Amino acid sequence: TPSHPTMLALWNSRVQDTPEAPFLHVFDETVTFAAADAQAEALARALAAAGLAQGDRVALYAQNDPLFVVGVLAGWKLGAIVVPINPMNTARELRYHLEDSGAKALVTLPTLWDEVAAGVVGDTGVDVVITGDFTRWTEDEGGIGTERVAAVLDARVSAPAGVTLLRAEELYAAQPRAAADPAQAGGSGDGRTGAYPTAGSVPEPRLTGRDPAFLTYTSGTTGSPKGAVNTHANVTFNAETYTRLVGIASGQPILAIAPLFHITGSVGHLAYAIRLGSPLVLSHRFQPEAMLRTIRAWRPAFTVGAITALMALADSPALQEGDLESFEVIYSGGAPIAPSLGDRLEQVYGTYIHNIYGMSETASPFTATPRGVRGPVDPASGALSVGKPVYDTEVRLVDPDGVDVAVGEQGEIWGRGPQITPEYWNRPEATAAEITDGWLHTGDVAVRDEDGWIYLVDRKKDMINASGYKVWPREVEGVLYDHPAVSEAAVVGAPDEYRGETVKAYVTLKAGAHTTVEELAEFCRENLSAYKRPRVLEIIDEMPKTATGKIMRRSLRD
Ligand code: ATP
Ligand code: MG
Repeated sequence: TPSHPTMLALWNSRVQDTPEAPFLHVFDETVTFAAADAQAEALARALAAAGLAQGDRVALYAQNDPLFVVGVLAGWKLGAIVVPINPMNTARELRYHLEDSGAKALVTLPTLWDEVAAGVVGDTGVDVVITGDFTRWTEDEGGIGTERVAAVLDARVSAPAGVTLLRAEELYAAQPRAAADPAQAGGSGDGRTGAYPTAGSVPEPRLTGRDPAFLTYTSGTTGSPKGAVNTHANVTFNAETYTRLVGIASGQPILAIAPLFHITGSVGHLAYAIRLGSPLVLSHRFQPEAMLRTIRAWRPAFTVGAITALMALADSPALQEGDLESFEVIYSGGAPIAPSLGDRLEQVYGTYIHNIYGMSETASPFTATPRGVRGPVDPASGALSVGKPVYDTEVRLVDPDGVDVAVGEQGEIWGRGPQITPEYWNRPEATAAEITDGWLHTGDVAVRDEDGWIYLVDRKKDMINASGYKVWPREVEGVLYDHPAVSEAAVVGAPDEYRGETVKAYVTLKAGAHTTVEELAEFCRENLSAYKRPRVLEIIDEMPKTATGKIMRRSLRD
């Protein structure tokens, strides 16, 4: 069990122990633990002055920028609940997240403020906005450079009436009011004595492991995004899970390849970096060429992210000899890894791509393949194992009546452990339906072999019932992915008078590739038994995707 009950306690002990150690590497700049802490204190003071208190929601709408990280820390210093929001969200989506979470404060970058957020916050519950300067990559004709974007607040889009707009740099520069007051200086009761000054600290909230650290919205792959409450205990537990799984040393850099707003980023990058006392390597957003330069500069030892991102780095024309050799351990999660792709990436990275399975509701990792172990491939389905439950965690595979299935049989994954969300935000019906006796019903179907390895089959909601035959889209998609012209494939059930449902496939083609519907149908005839073959095939230009880049079968179905 982790020795620190909350992420705030864990953070405070890092700042105390290694104040001058690097915490963030951003382009060519480094931010120490002490500097990030001072910045977070400044934001927390401003938010407290604006009326924020423990339990209030602080929304973060930003790319992988230091302001994102500082905003998270500031939220925790207040005992607030941090709500990460995808910076690719449109105005309508941002409004949904702000309203659903009831956010009172918003931390965002100036470009997002100007283009999206300023038009939204007026009629939400947000009454204070913090934005700040940032650096991003630019792609000019001459190659890739960096550009500093200043938060010019008054000259651009000003805040709607009733909303206070603050600039992070001004808050960082301001003297803490309490510093002049000797009764307050060092007297915050947070136990931080010694070299690091405590003057001007916001009063430490009374937090326990049961208090929410994050409110993480699901990707919305199967419906509207739902807010999953991740408590401090959920997050510290999974920071510990990463520590045990990955096994790199304190101080070894962690590459933030996933977006920090996603649970993979907020826990697998940020919480893990704090737990380990390691620097987090940030490069604003995922751009393969730019990220390769960041990797060259800071030599990260670990990352966890989407297989598509790992593939994009490996396939980038900018990849140079030795670029990826600093990685000692790599995990991939969020979507299946085709075994052939895993093998190819192992060649490029020189290390095995471990599979990890998790979701917003489990603060990410939940089952995983231990470091250095090559997970087996299910001979029946060709799926690469998502591993075994992480420590102190139980997994059951159950039938529709909640009864455990036998080895080798398909069942829904139910999970129980210290990382499981206690509830969906403001959704008592969803909570009651999806969490029974501490068991989370994941909605994912899997099989388990006699050695305990788990293989994901598909999502329960996506099963197609064709004349009483069960067809799992992922299996049909797997065949289509093997066709040389196919870039992406999605398979859904379409209503059918005779069969109830029929199998329908959508594909996009690789750039420059050509094929026909007839040729694809023939390919399916060769590789799939009759009831699994798509009755209808369609070649489309683009796949509908969620904000986290997952293909949305539901919008194809609609
Ligand atoms: P929503 O719940 O809103 O429909 P979502 O389930 O896609 O969206 P996330 O919490 O981001 O939202 O994703 C978790 C899901 O991602 C899992 O339930 C599972 O279906 C899929 N997934 C996660 N890891 C893996 C993996 N290693 N292999 C295959 N699928 C995975
Ligand atoms: Mg889900």
